Amino acid sequence: MEFSSKLIESAVNEFSKLPGIGKKTALRLVLHLLKQEEIFTTDIAQSLTEMRQNIKYCKKCHNISDEEVCNICKSHKRDNSIICLVEDTRDVLAIENTSQYNGLYHVLGGIISPIEGIGTEDLTIDSLMERVSTPDSEVKEIIFGLSPTMEGDTTAFYISKKVKQLGIKTSTIARGIPIGGELEYADEITLGRSIVSRTTYE
Ligand SMILES: [Zn+2]
Repeated sequence: MEFSSKLIESAVNEFSKLPGIGKKTALRLVLHLLKQEEIFTTDIAQSLTEMRQNIKYCKKCHNISDEEVCNICKSHKRDNSIICLVEDTRDVLAIENTSQYNGLYHVLGGIISPIEGIGTEDLTIDSLMERVSTPDSEVKEIIFGLSPTMEGDTTAFYISKKVKQLGIKTSTIARGIPIGGELEYADEITLGRSIVSRTTYE
């Protein structure tokens, strides 16, 4: 793509670094910004910069948060005896949107995948174990909200062996629900139902 302006070219290059954004879409976005009032671009830039600089990860559940401890972990209305284990923040959002779950979460940051070189030490498993083995832990059940793939199974199996030694019950949300990155696309009613009617993990 030939540009008559280096400034446009540079902006297009930056946009096209985003997932799912090709050069053509990037150009469309850049030209759209040019048509708007200047404040529109300034606001976007400021919002992104602030988000990047100030975002935190909850020190308990590792969900994205504005503070050291996220709103879910801080809430007195949540059931502290259940933790739903998920791969990333998008899964938390998807489950929260169902309004069918009132327990806590633990964001693993991925799943065990030898092909991608992701091992147990790359995930927040140690932090989970610490969380559930402290004397004041009220956790009685861990729900696996992981991908129905071999990697998801491996991860669930590995963690279930560890937590069962502590007398914690494990369960899994209904199979067939696309989870992990795709859980956000599962419709809310189906996802909500599958959490309510979760099955014991063997
Ligand atoms: Zn939290």
